Amino acid sequence: MSSIRILSDRVANQIAAGEVIERPAAVVKELVENSLDAGATRIEVEFRTGGRAYIRVEDNGAGMDRDDAQLALERHATSKIAEAADLDRLHTFGFRGEALPSIASVSRFELQTRAAGAEVGTELLVNGGRLVHVRDCGRPVGTRVVVAQLFNSVPARRKFLKSDATESAHIIHCVRLYALACPQAAFTLIEDERTIFRSPECTTTADRVAEIFGRQIAESLLPVEFAEAGLRLWGLIGRPGVGRATRHEMITFVNHRPVDSRTLSYALIESYHDAVPKGRYPLAFLFLDLDPAAVDVNVHPAKREVRFRHEVQVRALVIRAVLRCLRDSGAAAMAGPAAGGPPAGAAGPGAWAAQPAGMPPMPESRIAAPFPAFRPAVPPESLAAPAVTSAPPAAFTVTATGPEGVGRSPAGWRWLGLAHGTYALFETEAGLVLLDRRAAHERVWYERLREQFAAGRVGVQRLLLPVPIELDAIATALLLDRLEFLGRHGFEIVEFGRHFFRVEGVPEWMEPADAEPFLRDLLGALREGRLAAHDLDVARDELARLAAARAIRMPAGAGEAELLALAGQLFTCRQPLTSPAGRPTCVEFSHGELARRFQK
Ligand code: ADP
Ligand code: MG
Repeated sequence: MSSIRILSDRVANQIAAGEVIERPAAVVKELVENSLDAGATRIEVEFRTGGRAYIRVEDNGAGMDRDDAQLALERHATSKIAEAADLDRLHTFGFRGEALPSIASVSRFELQTRAAGAEVGTELLVNGGRLVHVRDCGRPVGTRVVVAQLFNSVPARRKFLKSDATESAHIIHCVRLYALACPQAAFTLIEDERTIFRSPECTTTADRVAEIFGRQIAESLLPVEFAEAGLRLWGLIGRPGVGRATRHEMITFVNHRPVDSRTLSYALIESYHDAVPKGRYPLAFLFLDLDPAAVDVNVHPAKREVRFRHEVQVRALVIRAVLRCLRDSGAAAMAGPAAGGPPAGAAGPGAWAAQPAGMPPMPESRIAAPFPAFRPAVPPESLAAPAVTSAPPAAFTVTATGPEGVGRSPAGWRWLGLAHGTYALFETEAGLVLLDRRAAHERVWYERLREQFAAGRVGVQRLLLPVPIELDAIATALLLDRLEFLGRHGFEIVEFGRHFFRVEGVPEWMEPADAEPFLRDLLGALREGRLAAHDLDVARDELARLAAARAIRMPAGAGEAELLALAGQLFTCRQPLTSPAGRPTCVEFSHGELARRFQK
């Protein structure tokens, strides 16, 4: 007797659901795509408890007659393609015909639909893949799908879901993507009876961005438009200098489909090489339109990834278009004195001082103590390179641990100059030391701030002109949760209207102009689950880490006195050899090493 058998449709659907429907947001994605494919101009999405308990998507699209509605629940039933070659002419989001049966196989699925011209609507109820009933129902033309008890029958899948807040953030992000992709449709998103956003039909993408991401972000964007050899790139990109700590606002579409494309995102990051600081991401709402035959969307069941037939050409187009747009905006800014703020990195006169006023001095005990037996986590590549030592520079350990040298200049160090504006070179008794200015500065500030935070001594500067800040729904919720924590650490922020906040005071160590970018970074960190609410120490540490990168900067013209003082302060730190991000702050070349290098 044969042991091979064909799986029942119900089992096959449940297996397919594993790929197509990985989390509640995937249900929302598939249903919203179907509504848009059906030509809807009004789409309402409602969900509860992160989508686990309840998801409703309702549209005013074409609807289905009874036969079609029943067929739609069969595997591989689609009205969108008939043969493989149709993929090359694809103008719809869907084509695989597996979303509805997959969703219905892992939930309690109710579909109500009515086609134009039909007398009554049809209602279908399926539970865990089994049809419960088909009957008439009254409803306007269009379709309404309610998905309840998602994954109830698949405990393994349920276990993998994250907190309601996380699942809800994914749903919100997903609906926003489609709202951006199709500004001509009106979108409403409701969570637990609270309206997250309601965006009427918009004539342009820029209007839609302003609607759901806020006017403030919309105003920091530049329009981009470029066409070449059958490719068209258009949309909105961040002005130079406007960077983000995460990729959440780097959003790309191919033929209006929201996609994660490495080609597009790398090209974007590369184009912004000089326009946003290293390690930060540009802001972009970028649309690429091209012949459907030149792109494969059938790489992954969820269709989030795409493959370009002419990858190199696409990449080059993005880089050219973005660079040109950034360059033109730069030229415009130079021409008009009103445009743009102070240049990045500029600090107020005297803002940076070797030991800023109001800073608590380093505790005595630490000054007197010799270097703690601290060994930094040395990156493997520096172990392999013998020139880089992982111990504190020898000259400093010997001569500068007494109270004399510390906090001022390390005894016996002679400043030789600054290379590439970044590396301070010192001659020491033991050889040469190269100090990375920025890494050292961040380390000093990080430890200072941690001490201040722990001691609850955070000086606040009240702002003469409070800084308004507009956030989206997710960021608003996150910020509201942390207002008190931030208040205790120097940020006086008040809510003044839906999604609007006013920063009235910032910590003394911060440039007021940095308040907004800093808060946006902070919200990025919150979104990624850092600054966890339950552990105050961890949250403080993370705050200090973010803050150190933003603390009042050394002026570009800092010279001998400032850099010697910085070296002095660095070596009173608990962990002087690495930046808060774990990069080395200095490297030493000993006499022996130099002699070996020169084969003496
Ligand atoms: P696909 O979208 O890949 O065709 P689905 O399983 O998502 O597959 O949907 C199956 C079919 O059901 C679609 O091809 C479409 O004809 C019909 N359908 C689904 N949702 C709607 C809707 N909201 N309005 C009208 N028709 C719909
Ligand atoms: Mg579909």
